[in-house]
Amino acid sequence: MTAGERDGTAEEVMQLIFALRSNGVTDKRVLDAIEKTPRAAFLDRSFKDRAWEDIPLPIACGQTISQPSVVGQMTQALGATPRCKVLEVGTGSGYQAAILARLARRVYSVERHRPLARQAREVIERKLHLSNVSIMTADGALGLPEQAPFDRIMVTAAAEDVPAILLEQLREGGVMVLPVGQTDDVQQLLRVEKTADGLQYSELSPVRFVPLLEGVAADVVD
Ligand code: SAH
Repeated sequence: MTAGERDGTAEEVMQLIFALRSNGVTDKRVLDAIEKTPRAAFLDRSFKDRAWEDIPLPIACGQTISQPSVVGQMTQALGATPRCKVLEVGTGSGYQAAILARLARRVYSVERHRPLARQAREVIERKLHLSNVSIMTADGALGLPEQAPFDRIMVTAAAEDVPAILLEQLREGGVMVLPVGQTDDVQQLLRVEKTADGLQYSELSPVRFVPLLEGVAADVVD
């Protein structure tokens, strides 16, 4: 963290861990990864003092950083181990990618807004010194064929259906976690496991994510 970057007080951190536990996040590795990751580093100045609250917050390009208890539930359901190569679709702030980086061998994260990808890369590499994350600007709905197959795939934007292209890039025995449903409505968080006998689906909880859109965004480049 840079000088002056405000991290949570012991009390704030404890309260967040309590909120995560009440939402069913009990995996110690996941709780540790969240505790170690300064969410304030991923937020604009005006939201840094709310970083340890269990709420989603606005980030640049009209997007949102997810609620920590949803990040916890998704990370727990994904079950990444230190041998896993993980794809995240929807880097946003980079917060979820940083947490995955502490649990997996290698993380590839894809974002359609170039300014978000650039900012996330800066925080993850320069502030958190995590060296096993690659962030790309691309249409993540197409996955990342050049790095496939993946042991785990997490999608942090809502599709109307499970994207077949992403399923193809999941290794047998792999797990994908994603919100599915109409974007102006509540969506369902799904866990999909690719077994030798086919796909096994389980429903986790209702959530609300920004939509998975097609193509790279035409942001004004500064
Ligand atoms: N995981 C993020 C929060 C996700 S917000 C975090 O930890 O902060 C969802 C993100 O998905 C947004 O930044 C949005 O731009 C991105 N997104 C939506 N459709 C996409 C696509 N097709 N490819 C890549 N990123 C996409």
